[in-house]
Amino acid sequence: MDLEGIDMPSASLVKKMLLACAVMATVASCAPTAETKTDTVVLRDFTLIDGTGKQPVAGQALVITDGKISWVGPVGDLKVPDGAKVEELKGKYLMPGLIDSHVHLGLVDGIKQDIKYQTAENIENQLKIYAAYGITTVQTLGTEQDLIYPIQRLRAGRPTMSRVYTVGRGVVFKGSYGGVPGLEQSVATPEEARAMVDKQAANGADMIKLWVDDEFGQLSERMPPQISSAVIDEAHKDGKKAVAHIFYYNNAAELTREGVDAFAHSVRDRPVDDALLSQMKAKGVWQMAATLSREASFTYKTLPFLKDPFFNRGVTPAVLQELESPERAAKLASGPNFPKYAPTLKNAMDNFGREVKAGIRYGMGTDSGPTARFPGYFAHWELELMVKAGVSPLQALTAATSANAEIMGAKDVGTVAPGKWADLLVLDRDPTVDIRNTRAINTVFIGGNKVPTIWETCVGRDAGACGARP
Ligand SMILES: [Zn+2]
Repeated sequence: MDLEGIDMPSASLVKKMLLACAVMATVASCAPTAETKTDTVVLRDFTLIDGTGKQPVAGQALVITDGKISWVGPVGDLKVPDGAKVEELKGKYLMPGLIDSHVHLGLVDGIKQDIKYQTAENIENQLKIYAAYGITTVQTLGTEQDLIYPIQRLRAGRPTMSRVYTVGRGVVFKGSYGGVPGLEQSVATPEEARAMVDKQAANGADMIKLWVDDEFGQLSERMPPQISSAVIDEAHKDGKKAVAHIFYYNNAAELTREGVDAFAHSVRDRPVDDALLSQMKAKGVWQMAATLSREASFTYKTLPFLKDPFFNRGVTPAVLQELESPERAAKLASGPNFPKYAPTLKNAMDNFGREVKAGIRYGMGTDSGPTARFPGYFAHWELELMVKAGVSPLQALTAATSANAEIMGAKDVGTVAPGKWADLLVLDRDPTVDIRNTRAINTVFIGGNKVPTIWETCVGRDAGACGARP
């Protein structure tokens, strides 16, 4: 489907911003002019978790100038610039906004899934939910129409929602697993695969995505090596990394030989062994997203967090009711793959733990966005599951900040350092002693501006209907 086919609602922020720029262009540039007053914010006396993996340091301060961090250091060395707005954050923990390296946008309305819901307005609403949960950057992995590109470009400024990286449309082998109904993205030959990769690269895709799977053997084909190797080779020719959806050990091994850069899921059919781990390490293959929360979510007939206000503030009462219904539980339990999900989750958890021990690089990604896999909440659940799988809370936080930024090539986010966007998560409790403290969200900043947090959000209800923050 082409951009012309996409309905851009008039309420779309993208459209409004593009219009504003067009109008302004007749009198001035859309960028800040010399007359624009510098906006300076000072945050002081917090404990800093800078995203690099360094231990937390108490008594820190930072200066934000026009949305970017211009200085960070001990409170004692702070020089407050003239006219700066100063905020005391004593007792708080400040870290980079979280990054989810594997999401899909605009696929659902509530939990009804259909590509027809992929409008700019719906995507923007979902990006605001990510932001409310402190996920200030996301990377969409391959089910987006071309309307994602104007939204992607907003990351160069100070959006009021999560920043977007994207692979554009992922490459699916005809008749095999991947993609979504209604979005043309399948290829049959290496030539078609290369042409599709070139098109994504020309559109401005940040990476190239491919799917190698057969849905527990339900489909007769998986993408064969002559196609996957063409996708990977063409991606590299275009200066892009190639990231693969995998399920099977054998495909992970083959793709590693072919030079893939990262995996968007764990190996889930069997334990990984030293042979694969040493190959992945030698070739520098990342476990970009282990998607443990995805695998965990499938094991439940009724999701275990429906009563948790941190979750249910982010969905409408109608969605909650559907998620709680016995009919839904019965339907999920009778699905043909339901008994396979618990062992699949176990493999994913164990294999992620083994990869970390073997020194494989890893990020954090959830695969949220398809039905009943919820923006933002799943990232906090993912961090918790990563810790259960064997990493420290600090390692999980580093995966979700600087490591994700590195694999995604996101140079201006992911750490708290001069020159980076002031995309910040301020917490009331220390997430390095208990990873669940990432939920104690006090403030979220994007480009130095505060955005509403999940504790100030009550989707589909009056603002006060969700009650006070616990
Ligand atoms: Zn996905």
